[in-house]
Amino acid sequence: MDSKLYIYNTLSREKEIFIPIHPKHVGLYVCGPTVYGDPHLGHARPAITFDLLFRYLTHLGYRVRYVRNITDVGHLENDADEGEDKIAKKARLEELEPMEVVQYYTDRYHQFMDELNVKKPSIEPRASGHIIEQLQVVDTILNKGYAYESNGSVYFDVAKYNNDYHYGKLSGRVIEDLLNATRSLDGQTEKHNSFDFALWKKASPEHIMRWPSRFSDGFPGWHLECSVMSAKYLGDEFDIHGGGMDLLFPHHECEIAQSTIANGKMPAKYWMHNNMITINGQKMGKSLGNFITLEEFFTGSNSLLSMAYSPMTIRFFILQAHYRSTVDFSNEALQASEKGLVRLMDAVNNLNKVKPSNSSSFDVNMFKEKCYAALNDDLNSPVLISHLFEAAKAINSMIAGLMMITADDLEKLKTLVGLFVFDILGLKQTVAETNANNEVLNEVVSLLLKLRGEAKANKDFVTADKIRDELLKIGFVIKDGKDGATWELK
Ligand code: ZN
Repeated sequence: MDSKLYIYNTLSREKEIFIPIHPKHVGLYVCGPTVYGDPHLGHARPAITFDLLFRYLTHLGYRVRYVRNITDVGHLENDADEGEDKIAKKARLEELEPMEVVQYYTDRYHQFMDELNVKKPSIEPRASGHIIEQLQVVDTILNKGYAYESNGSVYFDVAKYNNDYHYGKLSGRVIEDLLNATRSLDGQTEKHNSFDFALWKKASPEHIMRWPSRFSDGFPGWHLECSVMSAKYLGDEFDIHGGGMDLLFPHHECEIAQSTIANGKMPAKYWMHNNMITINGQKMGKSLGNFITLEEFFTGSNSLLSMAYSPMTIRFFILQAHYRSTVDFSNEALQASEKGLVRLMDAVNNLNKVKPSNSSSFDVNMFKEKCYAALNDDLNSPVLISHLFEAAKAINSMIAGLMMITADDLEKLKTLVGLFVFDILGLKQTVAETNANNEVLNEVVSLLLKLRGEAKANKDFVTADKIRDELLKIGFVIKDGKDGATWELK
């Protein structure tokens, strides 16, 4: 079996063996959110995709420095070089200070990523905290002759870069096609070519997010922050750069051009892109009326949803597709996923009921090999999940006495299931799933609560408290209410 990790590199358009620059350390940079709105599915997919990568690389023994930025300045409407800053616009509409908008939506983003069990990155830098570094890189690119100043703004000279390097090597775009495809300059006489992009923009009088510079009072271009912050925290050359496919062009193409000139190197060895999500077959967008936030998924408060879906259902659903495939959200598909997740978690719980035999009719080593092979094949989570479902079926057969497993193999199976389900796929058992799927457990706890109620009625508070404390020790939180005691898992 080939035990090497292969990842699809967007740059070479091939699956390549992953060989990090340093044998033990991995530098991973992922483009994070622009924090001007509530987190939605478009935020969940890249976060979960690169969480899986982060978890797997860590499991393989690498020390991963995972940098995921927060864009809090410079990202203009329509991802263009003209128009209002997305955050400033939200601040204007809500009559808030832009940094209040940034703080609020950053907190919301963290809250929902926690609910999806997405691990925190090692470093989460903000663009507005790196204005000085960005201005230094603007100077470097200007000094090397690949940028020009125009009316207080500074633009990257794409045509000149393309003469010496290759603009479009990541996205496959051809500069002549870009020239034909882009609209006329609409009076934007500041730029030499429509595909040139801003490194620094002079702020118009009404633009409130501005910093002083020798060019003008202004703000950095959107693409610049990622070149600057990835180099600052991971070095001029690092291992993996990730993000959604929507960022491939122009964002990542521009990053490569900037970094190549500023640092004389291609910034990342491997470029990974997760595919997009659709809702009922359509692209998700506010204008299409099918925009669903994560909060709406978790509470069911959107007319497109027939019920609420737990964060783990959303996570499992996303992992059931390969990250390079599109994912289409529909109520039917989510409900099927939820059932699958319940089945998987039942099997995990049922492992404790399996009684070992003298021989095994389940090949635990083969199961282990197949699971690793799936992950090593460009993080093929759907194939990994299908192997976990096969194991779930086998576990149920063991309980029914139709399959056998030795005590040693059973221990191995428990460890492997824990590793792949919880540590690597990052799934967790939630109160709702445990409640719904473990009626026996429910009955047992209810019985204990009934005994506790009787003890209390008999003024035997020592016993009543003992039941409560012992339950708490194993993770059950008891709450006394008007209608008696209820419980939930810690
Ligand atoms: Zn970026």
